[in-house]
Amino acid sequence: MAGKVSFDRNRCKGCELCVAVCPKHIIALDAATNVKGYHPATVERMEECTACASCARMCPDSVITVERV
Ligand code: SF4
Ligand code: SF4
Repeated sequence: MAGKVSFDRNRCKGCELCVAVCPKHIIALDAATNVKGYHPATVERMEECTACASCARMCPDSVITVERV
């Protein structure tokens, strides 16, 4: 099962909880900042995502949407 993960970029506070929980270690903080001045989370190597949704469950602000593709 592959996944497609999207982030509500401007609501992310860069807390890195999703970075820590991803079993595939494919989430990282973007070098650029969002409108709040935080470095938002993003997925690198989306092709490795398994759609486990651990990141979405962990995010305290419901920033992350995971779709199965
Ligand atoms: S759905 Fe799972 S594998 Fe995909 S980015 Fe989130 S935690 Fe990582
Ligand atoms: S857990 Fe949510 S708020 Fe924290 S870095 Fe990840 S997407 Fe952003």
